Amino acid sequence: MPGAFWCIVEDDRAGNPKKVMAEVIGEAARLAAQAGGQAEAVWLTDKAAPEGVKLLGELGAARIWLLENPAFATYGGDFWAPVIAELAAKESPQAIFAPVTTRQREMMARLAARLGVGLSADSTALAIEDGKLVATRPVYAGKLLSKVTWSKGPWLATLRPNVFRPAEPKAGASAQVEKPTVSIPAAAAKLVERREEASTGLPELAEAEIVVSGGRGLKGPENFVILEALAKVIGAAVGASRAAVDAGWKPHRFQIGQTGRTISPKLYLGFGISGAIQHLAGMRTSKVICAINKDPEAPIFKIADYGIVGDLFEVAPLLTSEFKKLLEK
Ligand SMILES: Cc1cc2nc3c(=O)[nH]c(=O)nc-3n(C[C@H](O)[C@H](O)[C@H](O)COP(=O)(O)OP(=O)(O)OC[C@H]3O[C@@H](n4cnc5c(N)ncnc54)[C@H](O)[C@@H]3O)c2cc1C
Repeated sequence: MPGAFWCIVEDDRAGNPKKVMAEVIGEAARLAAQAGGQAEAVWLTDKAAPEGVKLLGELGAARIWLLENPAFATYGGDFWAPVIAELAAKESPQAIFAPVTTRQREMMARLAARLGVGLSADSTALAIEDGKLVATRPVYAGKLLSKVTWSKGPWLATLRPNVFRPAEPKAGASAQVEKPTVSIPAAAAKLVERREEASTGLPELAEAEIVVSGGRGLKGPENFVILEALAKVIGAAVGASRAAVDAGWKPHRFQIGQTGRTISPKLYLGFGISGAIQHLAGMRTSKVICAINKDPEAPIFKIADYGIVGDLFEVAPLLTSEFKKLLEK
């Protein structure tokens, strides 16, 4: 439908939309209201949970394009993008949004290429100006903010998590569910084996409201347990600098920065991280930054809201026990 602001659903692979969808749908609905359109969800899944469908409606999706097929149990940009492109060619949405996640990042780039339109990747603000979408996105490792617009639609953008105001679910609001028929191309790759990592019980890095991050100052992989203990108490996700990842202390998906993940939590706590420009590129939009470093000249203190000059091996356990006392009250 012209005027439709599509939101590609990122789910937990168990049939439920991820928390970040409240932000994507909230922003789509806000812009669509200005443009005289409506927010709609596009969901590729092997099985949508009824509560998941209900939630999308409550968050403000007026319509759900539900593409339920066993083929979508696995992600593949090579067959997801053509399916969405085919639907977009039939339905002519005004805009297509998705959260910045590993798979949507890739899928949206493929979709933009197929549709022959521009994509604003990692957008941090969106506005309708003179009837057109204008996106703000950080460039040059976050040193500059650039504003971009589109010469033709649909307007494609990925939205950085934890930046846009999430929609409040409205009890009773429901979406019209459409189940269109689409042709699904054969996947170029075959899934041979899937290994699910045992859950740490900690939140996902990109979605977490608090992130506790460790760098070379931790001195070894075994010392991440100190940060994990703190993270458990305050409900944080754990992240790492590239130095810690390159040393093999944590897998790459924990890396924050230019060549890792971009995060915008409410609170970022950096332990033994110097604050290289490439690290800042991934966390400088955090709402509150707190750095713990034994070197008072460490560059991270220049962007930190709070700084503790001290030995992380003393400070981290102290913070853990103090937070524990406070939060158990
Ligand atoms: C192209 C390119 C891309 C890159 N991408 C990334 C990226 O995505 N993410 C990223 O993080 N980096 C990235 N880097 C690397 C970046 O330049 C830095 O080398 C890296 O961020 C440094 O990591 P660090 O702060 O953990 O280590 P260091 O710079 O070595 O800092 C360690 C800090 O720990 C402090 N310290 C030591 N012991 C203690 C203690 N006991 N208590 C408290 N503090 C202590 C020290 O004072 C020091 O400040 C990239 C580099 C390049 C060239």
